[in-house]
Amino acid sequence: MTSQPKAQRRRLVVGNWKMNGTREDNSCLLQNILADWPTLVNVDVAICPPFVYIEQVARALSPRELYWGGQSVNPNAPGAYTGEVSAQMLRDLDCRYVIVGHNERRRLQHESDDCVARQFLAAQAEGLTPILCVGESSEQRKQGQALATIGRQLKAVLEVAGLEAFSNAVVAYEPIWAVGTGVTATPEEAAQVHAFIRDQFADVGQSLVILYGGSVKPENAAELFAKPDIDGALLGGASLKAQDFIAICQCAENAGK
Ligand code: PEP
Repeated sequence: MTSQPKAQRRRLVVGNWKMNGTREDNSCLLQNILADWPTLVNVDVAICPPFVYIEQVARALSPRELYWGGQSVNPNAPGAYTGEVSAQMLRDLDCRYVIVGHNERRRLQHESDDCVARQFLAAQAEGLTPILCVGESSEQRKQGQALATIGRQLKAVLEVAGLEAFSNAVVAYEPIWAVGTGVTATPEEAAQVHAFIRDQFADVGQSLVILYGGSVKPENAAELFAKPDIDGALLGGASLKAQDFIAICQCAENAGK
């Protein structure tokens, strides 16, 4: 299995606020984050709020060289898709990233591998960087199907987008059993999957940023980031607490030094 010293890839921490917040909550959270924001040179940081709050987040983050993005995207060109948001719209709001294939979308909105692949393409066509989420359920892990599941999810995108497309993409390994549960994959479990993911991308894999997501907290972040194939984190709960978010970004900054 390949692994590359982390210094050769940029680290990334992304906060996924999911369906949380009000304008007032967000304003308070953003103020608290920015009041104590450290100088980070090794890490890019982004927040993906609900669509309706993207502009609010963008206004707060843009002076600080922090980024923002969407939590999902409709793969179709603008048109008659009530309630949906296109990649063009996300571009219009200066989003850098968009999450595609989050397990909550795959499970609750019935988004198939094929749909996720189309979202990935639509995002890239508008110059956005897709953050492709993959991960197995606890059942699949118990049955020894974790790597096969993730391999299938990656292949669905690789087949339509091609290897080179991953030079402008991020992959997030998010075991479903760890997302929002308080249970984190051990650094060894996560590292094994990250190395497997990197191996699926031949040479492109060496520069591919691969995040871990699933109950990352300030207490476990450093151990995870110490693994050579773990380039950062996709955070749910911890991105809603200013001090936890900052502490995890700082762990990513210090990792591998
Ligand atoms: C997520 O929603 O992508 C996530 C990783 O959530 P949490 O950090 O709360 O497990």
